[in-house]
Amino acid sequence: MLDDVKGIGPKKEELLNKLHINSVDDLINYYPFRYNIIKRTKLENGPVAISGIVESMPVASYIKKNFNKMTFRVQIDNYLVNIVIFNRAFMKNSLKRGKTITVIGNYDERHNVITADDIKFMELKEDVYEPIYHLTTGISSKILNNLINSALETKPEIIDYIPGYLKEEYNFLDKETSLKMVHNPKDLKSIKDAVLRLKYEELFKFMFKINYLKNNRISKKGLERNLPFDEVNKFISELPFELTDDQKKACEDILDDLRSPNRMNRLLLGDVGSGKTIVSVIGIFYNYLNNYQSALLAPTEILATQHYNNIINIFKKYDVKVALLKGGMPKKDRKEIIDSLQKGEIDLLIGTHAVLEEDVIFKNLGLVITDEQHRFGVNQRSIFQNKGTLCDILYMSATPIPRTYALTIYGDMDISMIKVKPSGRKEIKTSLYSFDDIKLVLGEMLDEIKKGHQIYIVAPMIETDEESELQGVKKLKTKIDEAYNKKIKTEILHGKLKNADKTKIMNDFKDNKIKILISTTVIEVGVDVSNATMMVIFNAERFGLATLHQLRGRIGRNSIESKCILISDKSSDRLKVLTESNDGFYISEMDFKMRGEGDLFGTQQSGDMVFKIANITTDVKILTQANIDSKKFIEDRLYEGNNCYLNIIDKLNLLD
Ligand code: ADP
Ligand code: MG
Repeated sequence: MLDDVKGIGPKKEELLNKLHINSVDDLINYYPFRYNIIKRTKLENGPVAISGIVESMPVASYIKKNFNKMTFRVQIDNYLVNIVIFNRAFMKNSLKRGKTITVIGNYDERHNVITADDIKFMELKEDVYEPIYHLTTGISSKILNNLINSALETKPEIIDYIPGYLKEEYNFLDKETSLKMVHNPKDLKSIKDAVLRLKYEELFKFMFKINYLKNNRISKKGLERNLPFDEVNKFISELPFELTDDQKKACEDILDDLRSPNRMNRLLLGDVGSGKTIVSVIGIFYNYLNNYQSALLAPTEILATQHYNNIINIFKKYDVKVALLKGGMPKKDRKEIIDSLQKGEIDLLIGTHAVLEEDVIFKNLGLVITDEQHRFGVNQRSIFQNKGTLCDILYMSATPIPRTYALTIYGDMDISMIKVKPSGRKEIKTSLYSFDDIKLVLGEMLDEIKKGHQIYIVAPMIETDEESELQGVKKLKTKIDEAYNKKIKTEILHGKLKNADKTKIMNDFKDNKIKILISTTVIEVGVDVSNATMMVIFNAERFGLATLHQLRGRIGRNSIESKCILISDKSSDRLKVLTESNDGFYISEMDFKMRGEGDLFGTQQSGDMVFKIANITTDVKILTQANIDSKKFIEDRLYEGNNCYLNIIDKLNLLD
């Protein structure tokens, strides 16, 4: 219990809960994201961190209500040095004469004064590493660190998930020592050793689950569907276009899964615009023919709405009943949908993850499809049990991942890939400009507008302060409106807008009422406005290649030539890759090679892909090793009394 820890009362507990710290275990496993290194210096002009003895009583003067200044003298080696510090008058009584302190700040040799940023009540004998944590307001890194240490003192049960023989093989520290070290580091090496060990443990546990599920999946019983494929084939033949070979293969995979008595757990990987939606719709149609309901989950309401409009159009000649469940819906409408759903009058429910809320009950849910990155954690699959069935699951992702890597982290799933995009789509011409060329860019934009086309502008932030060299959407709108004398209708879109506003703006853009849409990466996933033929991305260096590639996938959605302009003042081989290729899988391989990592999942992590200390896109080497080791462990050592893993297995079996 958290409140058993010294120093944690109801107030602190509440603050900790905001950080998703709900137990002692959460607390001690809440890791610093960086360390503040205080290096001991000599007394020299410039930045200093140095210890001395307080020589005179501090004098504090209050300049304004929230502004005070304190001065005193400290003996450092054989010198008397003046100290000035602002807004620390509260320290006054602790700064007793004769006390040893460490002063961190800037030494002005000529005036013999240190303007201090910070004072610490200890002697700086060697370099000090202060852990810095992600925080909520009302709690400081120092306080959090104290709480973690009190928690460690209560001798909580610490489960070490690394099997003994591997710990020996790699000479790993034991877990308790590692935890103490990451929270109270002594030197760089100890931080590295402890972090490596904790990352390995986390990834080993993750890969253990994946590999265990992979080995045991085949036997998982699911729904069986018996209808022949005639009718679904007829549906396919009546589509306004012919499926590509990759799409056909993906459909075969999915239909076979649906017909087989085993449970489908499949990932459909395909670049933006490769035509995943229609493949999923074919699965939905076959599921419907077999009298089961389907759910299609999208990460945002914009996307859910878009899917809805798109899919009712595809189904308009058929008797499939489709409904859209939105977050801010009037209660009455929501109830109506939920009631019909329960009666089985709705065949396909589209929405965000809100669709999985408890009161949304299906009559006979057979297929769940999640669009874009939202893999359910192995621990979350139980939600489907609440829905009363062992339904099949199809994940769709437009995030291109190198194949070997996909096979590792999605090892418990089957994978279908759509590599070649439908023909008739023009390649996107991408070029790289520096900020000085902005006039040129504005000219090109104007040409595009004159042709009746629309433009996306993407910037890394909503707002920026004056000094920042980064572009914010609000400032950009002002600049662009100025450049075009407000003759062209622009609008901004970002995550902090209300959903209703977002939807309105997206609809206006779709209806060509807005010519230039200036936005943050909220448009990243799946938005489809085919008249938008140009995208300009500011501070492109701020984004990962996969993100940039996904972003530009918003354009090139019809047969008109589209162009993407990346603006960056930092020349980079990385960005050049995008000007040379439109192949998402190639780009992700290159990104991987150049950085040894990728931004494979954008910034969002979900489901199992949430780690406390490891980073699945940068700790690839550790991941690869953990994968190999966990496989061997499952084969040879699992039943050698590794109780913690038997417990995990029990849980996994229970869920499935
Ligand atoms: P994704 O979800 O993979 O990004 P979509 O499913 O949104 O891609 O498809 C992009 C566009 O391509 C849609 O307008 C869709 O109708 C169209 N499309 C899909 N498959 C084909 C095909 N085989 N031939 C022509 N157009 C296609
Ligand atoms: Mg899509």
